[in-house]
Amino acid sequence: MIQTPILIVGAGPTGLMLSAQLHRYGTAHVIVDKKPGITELSKALAVQARTLEQYRQLGIADKAIEQGFVAETVQLIINGRVRAKIPLGQIGAGLSPFPYLFILEQSQNEALLQDKIAMQGGNVQWGTALTEVRKTATGYAGILTRHDGSQDEFECQYLIGCDGASSAVRHFLRMPLRGGTNARLFFVADIDMDVGLEKEGLLLALNKSEFMGFFPMSRPQQYRAIGVLPSSVTDPENIPFDTLKDHIEKNAGLPIKITGHSWHAGYRVHHRIADSFRSGNVFLVGDAAHIHSPAGGQGMNTGLGDAVNLGWKLAAVVNSWSDAKILDTYNQERRPFGVQLVHTTDHAFSTMVSKNWLARFMRTSILPIILGTALRFAVTRRLLFKTISQIRIAYRRSSLSDGSRSRSIHAGDRFPWFEWQGGNSFDWLTKPGYVVLSFGAALPQKPMEWVGPTTFIKVDSPAAEAAVAAGLPRNGSIVVRPDMHIAQIIA
Ligand SMILES: Cc1cc2nc3c(=O)[nH]c(=O)nc-3n(C[C@H](O)[C@H](O)[C@H](O)COP(=O)(O)OP(=O)(O)OC[C@H]3O[C@@H](n4cnc5c(N)ncnc54)[C@H](O)[C@@H]3O)c2cc1C
Repeated sequence: MIQTPILIVGAGPTGLMLSAQLHRYGTAHVIVDKKPGITELSKALAVQARTLEQYRQLGIADKAIEQGFVAETVQLIINGRVRAKIPLGQIGAGLSPFPYLFILEQSQNEALLQDKIAMQGGNVQWGTALTEVRKTATGYAGILTRHDGSQDEFECQYLIGCDGASSAVRHFLRMPLRGGTNARLFFVADIDMDVGLEKEGLLLALNKSEFMGFFPMSRPQQYRAIGVLPSSVTDPENIPFDTLKDHIEKNAGLPIKITGHSWHAGYRVHHRIADSFRSGNVFLVGDAAHIHSPAGGQGMNTGLGDAVNLGWKLAAVVNSWSDAKILDTYNQERRPFGVQLVHTTDHAFSTMVSKNWLARFMRTSILPIILGTALRFAVTRRLLFKTISQIRIAYRRSSLSDGSRSRSIHAGDRFPWFEWQGGNSFDWLTKPGYVVLSFGAALPQKPMEWVGPTTFIKVDSPAAEAAVAAGLPRNGSIVVRPDMHIAQIIA
C-alpha cells in the first residue's frame, strides 16, 4: 500500500515541474507515469521567458541556455516572396533576463527537470499507470498498475492530474474539456531541408490556400514544419511521410528540398478547457485542464506555469504553513488565463487556416502589414513580447492580491525584473518561500496567509533607486509570493 499526501499522475513537463516545486519545500509526494521514461520526441520547441525565469529560480536556467538557442528573426513569406525580416533577438530587452524567443525541445526540458528532481533526492515511478480511483472519507484511493502487470493500492489526500489531454484523473471527475475542434487537420514534421535562406529564425509562409511555419531546430538544416494537411488526407494518425514531403515542397511557396526527417505526426487541433481546475482535493494541471493549437508555442509553458502556481500552495497546506483555502486560488488564478489562451489561440489559428475569402485576405494582405508594422515599433514589440513570453500574466483579481498598487504595478503582477550595477531584482527571489522587501520603511509583519520560510531584505541604494525607476515605491515594503508574483505593496 502506497500512502502519500500527494499523488501526481503524469510526468510530462507539468508533472515534473510540480514534483520539483514540491521538493523545494521538502513536501512528501509520489509521482507516477505510465511511460517507461521521459519523452523521446521533440514536441514543444518554444520556451518562453517566463518559463526561463522559473527555471532560474529552480537553478536550471543556465543548463537550459547552454542546450538551446535564440530565434534571431522571423521572416514573413507571402505568396513565395520574403516580405519582411524582423529581428527578434532582443525583443524584450530590459523586461526579462531572457529577452528573446528561446528554442529547446520538450525532451530536453523534461530531462532538465528530471535531473533536478534526482538532485533534490526524488524520483519518478515510471511504467506505473493510474488504473482505478475512488473517493474515500479522507481523500482518494485506487490502484496503480506497473508495466509488468503487478498492482499497488494507494491512498492520498490530494490527487493531481498532470496526465495530459486524455487525463484519467479528469475522467474520474467526469469533467469534460469544453470547447471545439477545428475542422481542418494539422501536421508537424521535424525535417532537414534546403531552402536557400539563411537559418536564423522562424519562417512564416502564407498564401491564399496555405499557412506553413518553419521553426529552427538544433541540427544545421533541421526545422520543425507545421501547417494544415491537404484535404485528401482523412486519417491524420497514419500519414505516409512522402505525402507530407510532397505537400510541403509543393505548397509552402518556397524552394524547399527535404533531405531528411526524424518525426512527423498529424492531428486534430482542439480548443478546450475544463469547467474547473479543481474539484474537492483533485486538481487538473497542464494539458489535463486545457488544450489548444501548438501554433503559439504556449502549451508546455502554460502547464509549467500551472505547476509553479499550484506547487507552493500545496506545499503550504501539506506542511501546515497555510490554511487549506489558499488552494482555491489555483483555479481562481490559472483558469482565467487558460480561458483567454484557448480563445485567442483558437481565433488566431482559425484565421491562419481558414479557406474563406476574408481569412485569406487577412492572411496574405492585412496580417503582413500589421505584423511588419507592429514589430518595427518599440512599444508594440514590447507588448508582443510581454504577451507571448507570458511575463504579463497577473493575478490582480485573486483573493491573494489585496488591491494595493504603486503607480502601474499592482498586487498580483509578476515582480518586475530590473538591474543595477552589481545586481538584479531576481537574485532576491531565489530562496523558497515568501520574500519581504523593505525600501526605507519598517518591515511589515509576516504575510497573513503564510507562516513558512520567509526572507526579509532591506533594500538600499543603488538597488532602491533601480526599484523606484521600475515603478516600486520609494518608501514602503513589497511582499513577494514564492512564485515571484506580488502579494502586497505597502507604500
Ligand atoms: C507537435 C507539438 C508541438 C508543440 N509545440 C509546443 C511549443 O512550441 N510550445 C509549447 O509550449 N507547447 C507546445 N506543444 C504542447 C506541449 O507539448 C504540451 O502542452 C505539453 O506536453 C503538455 O504537458 P503535460 O505535462 O501537461 O502533458 P503531457 O506532456 O501530455 O504529459 C502527460 C503525461 O501523463 C502520462 N499519463 C497519462 N495517463 C496516465 C495514467 N493513467 N497514469 C500514469 N501516467 C499517465 C503520460 O504518459 C504523459 O507522460 C506542442 C505539442 C505538440 C504535440
